[in-house]
Amino acid sequence: MANPLYDTLFGRHAGQDTPFLHLPDGTTLSHDAFLQTAARYAHTLTDLGLVPGDRLAVQIEKSPEALAVYAACAQTGVVFLPLNTAYTADEVAYFVDNSGAKLLLCDPSRQQALVPIAKSCAARLETLDSDGAGTFAGLATDHPTQFDTSDRGADDLAAFLYTSGTTGRSKGAMLSQANLLSNAETLTDYWRFTADDVLLHALPIFHTHGLFVATNVTLMAGGSMIFLPKFDLDEMIAQMPRATAMMGVPTFYTRLLGDDRFDSGLTQHMRLFISGSAPLLAETHVEFEARTGHRILERYGMTETNMNTSNPYDGERRAGTVGFALPGVELKITDPATGDSLPQGEIGQIEVRGPNVFQGYWQMPEKTAEELREDGFFITGDLGQIDADGYVSIVGRNKDLIISGGYNIYPKEIELLLDEQPGVQESAVIGVPHPDFGETVVGVLVPQSGKTPDLDAIARDIGTSLARFKQPRKLVVVPELPRNTMGKVQKNLLRDDYGDLFT
Ligand code: ATP
Ligand code: MG
Repeated sequence: MANPLYDTLFGRHAGQDTPFLHLPDGTTLSHDAFLQTAARYAHTLTDLGLVPGDRLAVQIEKSPEALAVYAACAQTGVVFLPLNTAYTADEVAYFVDNSGAKLLLCDPSRQQALVPIAKSCAARLETLDSDGAGTFAGLATDHPTQFDTSDRGADDLAAFLYTSGTTGRSKGAMLSQANLLSNAETLTDYWRFTADDVLLHALPIFHTHGLFVATNVTLMAGGSMIFLPKFDLDEMIAQMPRATAMMGVPTFYTRLLGDDRFDSGLTQHMRLFISGSAPLLAETHVEFEARTGHRILERYGMTETNMNTSNPYDGERRAGTVGFALPGVELKITDPATGDSLPQGEIGQIEVRGPNVFQGYWQMPEKTAEELREDGFFITGDLGQIDADGYVSIVGRNKDLIISGGYNIYPKEIELLLDEQPGVQESAVIGVPHPDFGETVVGVLVPQSGKTPDLDAIARDIGTSLARFKQPRKLVVVPELPRNTMGKVQKNLLRDDYGDLFT
């Protein structure tokens, strides 16, 4: 019997007393103990009638048991479908209905609200809380701690991961075992993860970053994780001395830098800091190095493809770029109108192809056909360019491109200038409807703490370096940018807020 995903990530650790999860209460869970829980869950799933290919939707808090549900899915061949814990009951209804999940696993506190949804979707509902208790755990108690792993192939589906919904309704990306494994192998190697690594893990596990990048790489390398329920500054600082590596979204890094306790002493023994899921400001990169001596390694990926590019481990980690296409991944910059490759240096849409690229959007054949070309290239929806040394940088999302009076305006170019202005912490540039130009530019600024940016002076300064059509028609100041759980700026919300400035 073979099951590449289970065997490679989980099965290899069977019977091993090696550390896997270090928990906030000071205890450590071994690989073997973790796999025993997973095996009991695998029996439970089977008892509940789930067979390979069925979907299991989970909306539960981060815990070792939640991760064991992932392992149980891999072992039984059930498709794992983790959901953002912030989703409301109505939102969960969409995912359960859309995916046809046979079982919905939720936190006991959500049970009441989800009963009618499970019923209308003909899904069974069980509970699992962050301490590993609940009806599902109850069903699992008396099961054996060994399970005969289901026979699966590399092309079989392992997970449905819904996109973050930053640009519209979330889409269910179908990921095969090979999609996950190829990326885990590449990243483990590229970032030199080994059994000696201890990864500081404060990311959610319903998203590709904390689930597939962090967890699969750690499992592949045989290392362990300091498994924190969420990002908590005090806890991060307390745990950092035990870690060798950390993966975070950019806001983790800005929040760490905002604390004086975070210094070179605290990070001395750290081997690697990785950032992704949203753009890391070059300024954060520079400040981080000045404070700690470490250069953050930024990489780029998405739900549909796992990781596509990474800055190098040994070579220069270039601030403001996401590095090079990973081994085995092809990346090209194309003209959005024709799909033809553009000459080096030009801005265009980023397309990627490789064993990491997903199998399509679940029950969205038209959307799949629009974005996944027949030759295997996936149109990421991001715009980017490649510099003379081959470093890729992301200019923004295709959907955030501003077209004003027929001219293309890339928000990033303006954001970089705004970020450098006195008193400005960060910025977001959006296009809003304009009666003459179709769209025009609005700059949304977040001030540095205690500062009041001089908007007239900023407008004058920008005027000297930007063509007139790119200059923001209006600058507004807000206390903070709207961000989702993964630290992504929600420009759609800003467009809603400022959409009627000129109409
Ligand atoms: P949706 O597709 O539903 O609109 P989403 O694209 O935000 O949501 P994810 O798959 O979670 O959902 O995020 C992938 C996106 O995150 C990428 O397409 C890219 O825009 C952004 N991203 C990831 N890493 C980086 C990075 N290092 N720099 C800039 N952007 C990044
Ligand atoms: Mg996307």
